[in-house]
Amino acid sequence: MQTEHQQQSRPSSPARVLVVDDELTNLRLMGDLLNPHYEVLIARSVAEAREVLRTQLPDILLLDVMMPEVDGFSFCHELKGNDETRDLPIIFVTALHEEIDELKGFRLGAVDFIHKPISSPILLARVRTHLELKRRTDMLEQRALIDALTGIGNRRAYDLSLAAEWGRLQRKGSCLSMLVVDIDQFKLYNDFFGHRQGDECLQALAAALSKVISRASDQLMRYGGEEFVFVLPNTPLAGAVAVAEKLMVEVRALNMPQSPDADHDRVTVSVGVACLEPNNDQPPESLFLLADKQLYEAKGSGRNRICFSEEPRSPDE
Ligand SMILES: [Mg+2]
Repeated sequence: MQTEHQQQSRPSSPARVLVVDDELTNLRLMGDLLNPHYEVLIARSVAEAREVLRTQLPDILLLDVMMPEVDGFSFCHELKGNDETRDLPIIFVTALHEEIDELKGFRLGAVDFIHKPISSPILLARVRTHLELKRRTDMLEQRALIDALTGIGNRRAYDLSLAAEWGRLQRKGSCLSMLVVDIDQFKLYNDFFGHRQGDECLQALAAALSKVISRASDQLMRYGGEEFVFVLPNTPLAGAVAVAEKLMVEVRALNMPQSPDADHDRVTVSVGVACLEPNNDQPPESLFLLADKQLYEAKGSGRNRICFSEEPRSPDE
């Protein structure tokens, strides 16, 4: 299943609940109960539910077990095997009362069981509980992707972002660009000004680099130490070089004094730029290696400059 929706949480809007049940009376009952509190999506079969999930990702799924064609257990198994829907909490709502059925549901990855006939307060309470757990889990996951010092994405965010874009752009046949940015002679900076000011320098750099992000799909992350990385989807090499030139302007505007032992009297950066059309033959890291090689060139040829790979280039460049 391939969906275009964003995985990001929607903090300002009400939680979205998908209810799947083949019986109209059940759908009505649950719909009426949930509607005052949540955005409710309904499906009368697994086929309809798949259709809904193609465009909208709910925060929780209430799933009937006994349905013609595909039953709830099979659908749960299917959803748990898909990257996009793996973390969607599933509550079975069922007339089955056997312990063995309930256990089967939990083994398949369901978070809870609600028995029919439905008790309205129990249904609402369980939905509320699991939505709250989901909200907290999402928040912790988001927090785990943030670099504590600079507030931008961390190395883990970079790994996830690169892997996701690599797969997505491979399907679309578009190009992916990367900038690797490294503060020049940062060790000299730290030795001269101390590590506390070194941290402030990193924060100021991250803020300056953030200014050149103009599209929601472009991402800036701290790769580690004094190294930052931009992941720029659907961006040809020329576009990526233009971003690099903009960031050089921002860094210059910071006008931060550097150690007297350094090549330049102000803090500077070197930038390596590379562009690839993601394909199956290479791992995502091949793009980083290309950009990093260019960074090495920039360092070797005097620092405070941009180097970019001339190849491989796509036919339209
Ligand atoms: Mg049923």
